[in-house]
Amino acid sequence: MAGEPQSDCLFCKIVAGEIPATVVRKTDRTLAFRDIAPKAPVHVLVIPHAHYPNAAALADAEPDIAGELLAEAGRVAADEGVEDYRLIFNTGAGAGQTVFHAHVHVLGGTSMTERMV
Ligand code: 5GP
Ligand code: ZN
Repeated sequence: MAGEPQSDCLFCKIVAGEIPATVVRKTDRTLAFRDIAPKAPVHVLVIPHAHYPNAAALADAEPDIAGELLAEAGRVAADEGVEDYRLIFNTGAGAGQTVFHAHVHVLGGTSMTERMV
């Protein structure tokens, strides 16, 4: 069934608590945790508990959760004290996606105007 956990998915394992992560926010349907290799002073990933391969697939199947993901990204930024931040959804290996479980990067805490990621 769509959205079911995948045994070979790193982020499904983080949702299940099988791999540790530094969690900063949690809802019934989303999880926000610090990126293990931060590209900015604030670098948090927000993911749905449900497994979808990318953000567009999530929005197609579960638009409510996709909206919640965005709202949570904004709350993470507020919690972290950053007013200006960048949200990134890499989609496809050629665009830099390495984990094929929908996620949004919340990047901030430094000037983002010169940066691609
Ligand atoms: P992508 O490149 O797919 O858009 O983003 C995946 C992100 O997951 C990368 O920024 C990478 O640093 C992060 N990441 C990979 N493995 C782990 C992990 O085990 N724990 C955490 N917290 N982040 C991870
Ligand atoms: Zn997954």
